[in-house]
This record gives sequence, structure tokens and C-alpha cells, in this order.
Amino acid sequence: KREDITYFGAGPAYLPSDVLATAAGALLNYEETGLGVAEHSHRSELATNILNSMKADLAEFLDIPDTYEILIMQGGGSGEFSATIYNLVAVWVEKRRKQLVRERGENVSEEELVKELQKQVQTELRLDYLVTGSWSLKASQEAARLLGPEYVNVALDARTANEGKFGKIPEESTWKLSQKAALVYMCENETVDGVEFPRFPKALEPTGSEDGPIVVGDFSSTILSRRIPVENYSIIFFGAQKNLGVTGITVTIIKKSLLPPTISPAAPSLLRKLGLPIAPVILDYATIAKNNSLYNTLSIFDVYVAGQVLKKLLATFPDKVDGQQAAAERKAASLYAVLDAYPDVYRVVADKSVRSRMNICFRVTKGGNVDEAEKAFLKGAVERGLTGLKGHRSVGGIRASNYNAIPESGVQKLAVYLKEYATA
Ligand code: PMP
Repeated sequence: KREDITYFGAGPAYLPSDVLATAAGALLNYEETGLGVAEHSHRSELATNILNSMKADLAEFLDIPDTYEILIMQGGGSGEFSATIYNLVAVWVEKRRKQLVRERGENVSEEELVKELQKQVQTELRLDYLVTGSWSLKASQEAARLLGPEYVNVALDARTANEGKFGKIPEESTWKLSQKAALVYMCENETVDGVEFPRFPKALEPTGSEDGPIVVGDFSSTILSRRIPVENYSIIFFGAQKNLGVTGITVTIIKKSLLPPTISPAAPSLLRKLGLPIAPVILDYATIAKNNSLYNTLSIFDVYVAGQVLKKLLATFPDKVDGQQAAAERKAASLYAVLDAYPDVYRVVADKSVRSRMNICFRVTKGGNVDEAEKAFLKGAVERGLTGLKGHRSVGGIRASNYNAIPESGVQKLAVYLKEYATA
């Protein structure tokens, strides 16, 4: 039975049962229309209302200023690895083109522009990646795949300071950031490795000038669980499937100054001449923004579920995301406390300074044979209704994902089991 289980899976993740019950009803008959929410046209007034109210509640919960646009997209976090590259490279080229036209006058020939831009692309176009775990690594690999490795600057590879493994974030003074990168990419919370940035990096804080760092943040596994200094980011993105709702939609929060009418990303014809990739239209932020996220068929059901989760969060926490943050920190602290109390039995993967509150990754070392100990640990967990604890296949170990929908009582059950297993 659902009530007997606490599910610690990393995503798709647990959703509040009352939200699912409401969604199940809406799937059959939405607000007495005789038609389910997944059957209504995405262009109906009803769908637009669901979309707009979900966006408004998201902005309310996270205090997103109205200098930002919220786009509901598809393609997941992985789609955003590519989308951020396409779009921000096109913005970079457009800024350079405008600058050249300012310097050389409106009558500058197309040929001269292209020649000069080609030179600038080769010598100055750089994308910076802070590689702190498996997902930021993947994002950097996508940049190398789309553009060529010569354009990708891994400003930080956290493995080098930690015996080839993720688990620490080295001092900012060791990062090798480029001058005026087209983007600086960071993953706030590394779902596989259990590493989370404890605070926004000083080196990336806005400078107040237009030339300040263009920061992209992957919030896939931490969104809605902590306050975000939104204005430090140019783009914030996340898939819905961990803290927001069901799998299928991806949210992009983007500074309006990166969109028309402020800036129109470089035209496909120019990008083609420069040998740079052109965004597929469904990953083109300007297109999605212009169409209020309804350029093509959007899953309104997914938006509806996300909206219900947000309504519940707003009703539960009068102080909005700060309240949820306190709850997440309480839950994580109670698990880390037990793990730390038995150093001969458990070893937390991430360094104390960067421990994730969302994905608590650890090894079970009891008795010396880690493989066997972890198997036994998982077996006992399942017997107690504690499921989804197996670590990511690439790293092994145990991972307890502590997303928002996991109740404190479920976390307490796990804490009790951790203690029982350690002392048995
Ligand atoms: N970034 C992070 C931090 C993730 O945890 C994930 C998925 N677990 C992704 C990106 C990829 O997301 P998706 O599966 O939605 O493409």
C-alpha cells in the first residue's frame, strides 16, 4: 500500500498523495467540463488559465522578479544542456555584431562583418563550465559536442582536487574563469554525487555592468527547496520530476534582457556562415517566450500537477520557500547526524562543506565488504517500506533523496533504521 512506503528515489520522485488524488479526478473530468485536463486543447482558455496561474504561483513562491520570463518547455534538463548553448551563443554573436556595427558604421559590408566575427568566434568565444559532478560534466560534454572542445573551458574540474572523484568543491581562487564567457554554467545540486553549492559563488556575483557574468544554473534537483538569488542568474532551469511535479515539462527562468525586444539572437543565416549551431525551434527561447510557452502542444496535465504542488506549498508555508528550506534542512540534518554518529558503518560521499540537502549519498562499510553490506542494508530497508535508496548506477552506494514531498515522518523512519542497522 502507498501509505506503507516511503520512496527516496532520485527522480521521478514522490508526490503528495492529495495532489495525485486531485490530479486523478481532473484527468477524468476537469472542473465538470466532462473532459479530462489532458484532453482539453492546449489553446483553450482553460489551459491558458492553468498555465498562467502555475507561472504566477511559481514566481510568488520563489520571489522571481518581473524582469524574468518563465518558459515552460520540454526536453528535460538534458534538453536545457543544449538549449542554453544554442541560445547564449546566438546572444553572444548578436552582441558582437551590434558592437561591430557601432564601431564601423551602419554601412559596414556583410562580408566584412562575417570575416571579423569569424575571427572573434575563434579567439574569444568561450563557454565556462564548473564541473562539480556527473550532471555538470554531461552539460560540458554537450557543449563540446555541439560546438567543438576548443570553445569549452572547464573552469573547474572538482575531481582533480579529490583523487579523481567528485565530492568537494575547490576554492574559488583555483577556478580558471574566462574573460567575458558566453556563459558560466553551474549545477546547484549534483543529484548523482550528493554535492551542493553551499552558497552562490563570489566570483560570479553581478558586477552591475552589462558585461557581468552570464550565469546558467541547473536547479533540476534542488528547485523549490531553497531560496535562490534569482538576480545573480541569467538562466535558471529544471525538470519538473523531482520537486515540482510529474515528468514531462521543463521550466526555464530567463532574464528578459536576453530576449526580444531587448536582444534578438543572431539570425540563423549568420550563425550558419560562422559555422555555429542553430537552435531547433522548440529549444529557441525567443520563440517559446513569444508564444507564452504554447508554440507547440504542451502537456497541460503536467502544468496542472505542478500548479497543484505549488498551491499546496504556498498554503503550507506562509514564508514561502524559506519555510520549505527550513524543513529540507531539518530533514537532511537528521539523516547526516545518524550517518556521522557511526563512522565505522557509514561514510558520507561528499565533503561536509558541500553536502547536498536533497541527495544524501553514502557508503555502507560495516564489516569491510561494502558490496555485501550495501546489499544487506537495502534489503532491510525494503522490508521496512523504505524504497528507492539504491545509488545511481554509475557510482553505486546508497542515495536517499530528500525531496520536498518526503514527509518528516518518513525521514524519521529512515533515521531509525540507519541506527538500527548500525547497532545490530
Ligand atoms: N541535471 C540534474 C542535476 C539532474 O539531476 C538531471 C536528471 N536527474 C538532469 C540534469 C537531466 O534531466 P532530464 O532527465 O530531465 O533530462
